[in-house]
Amino acid sequence: MLKVANYKFWFCTGSQDLYGDECLANVAAHSKEIVDTLNKSGVLPFEVEWRPTLITNELIRKTFNEANNDPECAGVITWMHTFSPAKSWILGLQEYRKPLLHLHTQYNREIPYETMDMDFMNENQAAHGDREYAHILSRMRIERKTIVGYWQDRDVQERIAEWMRTAVGIVESSHIRVMRVADNMRNVAVTEGDKVEAQLKFGWEVDAYPVNEVAACVESVSASDVNALVDEYYDKYDIVLEGRDPEEFKKHVAVQAKIELGFERFLEEKNYQAIVTHFGDLGSLQQLPGLAMQRLMEKGYGFGAEGDWKVAAMVRLMKIMTTGKKDAKGTSMLEDYTYNLVKGKEGIIEAHMLEICPSIAEGPIQIKVQPLSMGDREDPARLVFQSKTGPGIATSLVDLGNRFRLLIQDVDCKKVEKPLPKLPTAINYWTPQPDFYTGTEAWLLAGGAHHTAFTYDLTAEQMGDWAYAMGIEPVFIDKNTNMRDLKRDLMLGEVFYR
Ligand code: MN
Repeated sequence: MLKVANYKFWFCTGSQDLYGDECLANVAAHSKEIVDTLNKSGVLPFEVEWRPTLITNELIRKTFNEANNDPECAGVITWMHTFSPAKSWILGLQEYRKPLLHLHTQYNREIPYETMDMDFMNENQAAHGDREYAHILSRMRIERKTIVGYWQDRDVQERIAEWMRTAVGIVESSHIRVMRVADNMRNVAVTEGDKVEAQLKFGWEVDAYPVNEVAACVESVSASDVNALVDEYYDKYDIVLEGRDPEEFKKHVAVQAKIELGFERFLEEKNYQAIVTHFGDLGSLQQLPGLAMQRLMEKGYGFGAEGDWKVAAMVRLMKIMTTGKKDAKGTSMLEDYTYNLVKGKEGIIEAHMLEICPSIAEGPIQIKVQPLSMGDREDPARLVFQSKTGPGIATSLVDLGNRFRLLIQDVDCKKVEKPLPKLPTAINYWTPQPDFYTGTEAWLLAGGAHHTAFTYDLTAEQMGDWAYAMGIEPVFIDKNTNMRDLKRDLMLGEVFYR
């Protein structure tokens, strides 16, 4: 299941003792008011915690180290209310290891024309102090997020909220453990990758288990547990027999219920949050896990097909980053399958043999049982649905041999023009930005895979910030993409990320 810790973000205000005690008292009062307002806004997914004003080398260093060591702290928000000489920040920043937000704001919104004197100017000089601070961050090449705006404005609060989700993704990345019950599909290149390098870069642990060890766990699930889950399925989803005998149909569905329960127990027992299967290595499993994997993804597990552990980890990461998001529209593994090349209606059918997460579904969800030529097992039960419309992002983490690259593509999800009565799989349908042709050319040129980790609930900026924090190259394909600039950017990336 998806359990994300009750993280907090520390709010650290910079100043110095040059301006007297009254000024420092005001600085503390103002920053407390900002923290209160942010917490009461209802916009932030995590709590902000006020910390005493940072005015000396010793306190700055101590505070950043305490942030490092506090497992509940997922990042520090910094703001210079007055001027804070940046050499005081060097030692603390050198030792700090968590996400950093530089919030460039000011306590007062408007210039107080009638009353402003030099005392006011000295007290309210973020315009001055934050430049000094940002300079040392840049000189030290410290990866951070910079947000400029007034702290009471909702758009600023929303940007802080988005950054918090990215920060939690950065902190939680090293807790992702992927269980592989099969190796990579024979001869396939793009799903391969360097697992040691992935652990060094992202903190992911990717381990293999013999499929029959998991299959034994599936076998041990009791009939009563299976029946209870089948009842839940029949309650929740539309049963589409398509001429099959109802009892025989139910037996096929029960196999997936048993797989769901057995796999989940195995994952929980061994502390894994993402899973990889492969139709070519099913051991004693009766069916390729279909409906079972769809349900596990909906519960927050990452999933990758055909041994694709990179997609499994990315789906899990996105599930973490979007957890608890109000009105979330869903996150899933998808696969580029088939095009519509009719002029003006160009798009890509996104699907997989079975394993698409129902969190992205719109409208009724059906259970169907149909033959599957891949996998050499009995007909698997699967959830079939159409997906929501609207903007989303598709990502592909590729291993370029000496390094990783993260492709992040803005896509517009649409309804398919006509029903697909013979297609027994869940689908999404989208047109990549800036248009089908440029977006697809860019994806191909950048080496993107056919499997993607997709979500409606994160922005390209958030995934890009995660990539920067991991020290890998993000490649954005969006409304601004043109092939000449993209090609130059990829060449520059080869130089920078070696
Ligand atoms: Mn596939």
